[in-house]
Amino acid sequence: MKSPVSFSFKSVSASVALSLGVSALVAAAWGAGVLASPAALFLFDDPATPSVPPQAWVVLLLIAAAGVGGGFALERLGARNALRLVALALIVLCVASLAASRFLHLDIVFAPMMFAGSGSLAAAQARRLWTIDRLLTTNVERIAVQPSALEGRGASARLSSGLKLLDTVLPLEEAVIFRLDEAGLPVQAARLRQAAGVGAAGDRNFAWREGVVMCERAMSGGEMIVQAGAEVAGVSRSSVAVPLGHDGQRVGALLLRLRGRFDESDGPLLKTVSAQFARNLQRDDARSLGVPEARSTFFSSRAARQRLEAFGVVSGLLTEQAFAGLVLSEASDAHAVAYLDGTLAYVNPRMLEAARVTARECRALDLFQLLERFRTGVFDEPSIAVRRVLQTGQAYERELTFLDHSQTLALRIALVIEAAGGDRTEHAERNGHAPPPLCLAVTVRDVTRLKELDKLKSDMLSLMSHELRTPITSINGFAELLMADERIPADAREFLSIINGESQRVARMLSTFLSVARLEQKDRQEVLMAPLMLDDVVRETIGNFQTAARRKRIRLAERDGQKLPPVAADRGLIMQAVANLVDNAIKYSPERTTVTLSTALEADAVRLTVEDRGYGIPSEDQDRVWEKFYRVSRDGRIKEEESTGLGLSFVREVVERHGGQVSLESEVGHGSKFSFTLPRL
Ligand code: ADP
Repeated sequence: MKSPVSFSFKSVSASVALSLGVSALVAAAWGAGVLASPAALFLFDDPATPSVPPQAWVVLLLIAAAGVGGGFALERLGARNALRLVALALIVLCVASLAASRFLHLDIVFAPMMFAGSGSLAAAQARRLWTIDRLLTTNVERIAVQPSALEGRGASARLSSGLKLLDTVLPLEEAVIFRLDEAGLPVQAARLRQAAGVGAAGDRNFAWREGVVMCERAMSGGEMIVQAGAEVAGVSRSSVAVPLGHDGQRVGALLLRLRGRFDESDGPLLKTVSAQFARNLQRDDARSLGVPEARSTFFSSRAARQRLEAFGVVSGLLTEQAFAGLVLSEASDAHAVAYLDGTLAYVNPRMLEAARVTARECRALDLFQLLERFRTGVFDEPSIAVRRVLQTGQAYERELTFLDHSQTLALRIALVIEAAGGDRTEHAERNGHAPPPLCLAVTVRDVTRLKELDKLKSDMLSLMSHELRTPITSINGFAELLMADERIPADAREFLSIINGESQRVARMLSTFLSVARLEQKDRQEVLMAPLMLDDVVRETIGNFQTAARRKRIRLAERDGQKLPPVAADRGLIMQAVANLVDNAIKYSPERTTVTLSTALEADAVRLTVEDRGYGIPSEDQDRVWEKFYRVSRDGRIKEEESTGLGLSFVREVVERHGGQVSLESEVGHGSKFSFTLPRL
């Protein structure tokens, strides 16, 4: 931003105009003879031949030159240097004046020049101060009158709810908040009263006056006053007056009448709540005064007071806004906020624990050094992660496993942007540019327990499937044996065939469960990679599924593509993944349709696609079909089919373990196109 007092054409012309004005005044005073006596002080006259001034127009020119010189020097050099220069010039001129009057009998009009020069300098400086003052006032006021997002409610509602809050901890009979009026006298701003007090009106007036006096004493002393009252029905009453102030300014007082003694341990809470009351009152006061006329601020004490109040509001807002940040200290996850220069702005206690540093050590760290504390195999270059976040604006997320202290942490580094609600696209659409980034937020969540539970679930799945496989195999086998027995009547044989079919279905589901569980239990390193030709996989899968496809009158075909390079993959897992896709394509397609398998070569990957002309998947389900146990309901069909919701999650897991990606295009009623890529060798 340009400084309001910088040297510019506008400021110079304003100063020159001001200087000419001052010079004109001085010239008028000189013409009227007002300056005769001070002028005589700088003349060393011979009484016989008194000095004479030059012609009037020369005098005017000299005065104007001195005035403009003073104003210009201030604009160009600033107050301190200009003052030195003008002082030097005046000394020289003073000597010249004395000499000229003594020897040449010439009056060089030094006194008017001096008044014009120094007057212009003072006027230009006053203009500068006034400009700054005006800008300061406008800015402070603008911030002060803007309601803060956290405020929500009006000042009086806030005062009342504050009194209610006090009522929950103190045995309140009455509570009154006083504010100071224009004349500095306390007037009631809010009041909370329990069941109407006993006593005559006269007593109440007396008690009120007594309370006001207590408040006045508290305000003038700046200290809380506790006064034990009379005992009524065996209970000793007490009154407390707390001064309300913020930043050294008194804004009012809080008077409490208690049914019982005041417990000193409630003092700190009372002080904190009072500080909040003070901020509310001050804010309300400042807003009721409104924005002062910017032009009058420099000279009006009322406007100056308004500015002071506005500044108090700004400082109160700063105090309250810090609360939002402090919420993080209570968060169960570890959080750190860093400025965009990499300095840490805030680190919560959980983050200190997670990074295994003390608060003291942390003060010496910057963002990168903090992230270094989480360095692992998958997070080996923290600075690269930060750079990616800064460049793309996308959050960086990784799961970090620390084997030495068997812990898994979910790390997230995100760029916090200015747009409300963090919606970049919305902001960009509205303002035509991307929202500016503000800071970086680092979150670390301990997911060790979640991982343990997940593993427990997988183990359980694996154990159950395994244990159930043996009995199911027996059921299946014996049913087949019995079916082959000629002695079994035809109707019983039909039941046996149902038992056989259903047990085979259960066996297939168990094998899906098992393969998913086994894959989850495997470490990434355990996936066996060997060169694999995807064309062979396609051909073999088509062979395996031909019978099933024919049963549903579905044509299973391979589309010829270009020659493919091999990929590094685990043959068993890839075969199973492609089988799942083809199985789905047959399962979710009506009769007399075609399922096509194809392969294609891409820039650095090989793609395998399974395309059907089946029922299709609604767009809202397309992202979710890859989730475990997710099944798309289609006219209540879900029950009829052999469905676990695990097949596609297995495909994605296998493909991602190989460094590839899955994708899906589908349209309801037209069919689906499932595909995946594998990096080429
Ligand atoms: P499932 O064992 O139920 O087939 P998947 O994970 O393989 O489990 O599939 C999840 C859901 O996606 C299924 O319930 C099905 O509705 C839908 N789906 C999968 N493949 C297709 C497809 N080729 N056409 C239509 N819907 C499909």
